[in-house]
Amino acid sequence: MSKRVHTREAQRQRTEFYESGKILDADPATRHLSVCWICTLRIDYEQAPGTTTDSHTLDHYYPVEDFPELQNDPDNFRHAHFDCNSSRGKGDAERGLGDPMPAWWG
Ligand SMILES: [Zn+2]
Repeated sequence: MSKRVHTREAQRQRTEFYESGKILDADPATRHLSVCWICTLRIDYEQAPGTTTDSHTLDHYYPVEDFPELQNDPDNFRHAHFDCNSSRGKGDAERGLGDPMPAWWG
């Protein structure tokens, strides 16, 4: 069973987090705050979240599977590429692609 909860509130937070990143990305002075926290490259905020490999996703610093109580905690939110998030494993994409992460990861 997944520990994720998909509530309207969670969806609102997700959209709000994307919008906040988009605003940061629009200004060169704050752009570094909105890059992908995994690979540190710019995220494509022009694309709708989760639609392309370099579009935005909300990643959780502490994985939801291990820390379900933190999944709605904004302090646990990180901007990430869809592809990076997917590769990380316990991210939001739940796609199961790529190799399993080594035990020391995360
Ligand atoms: Zn990335």
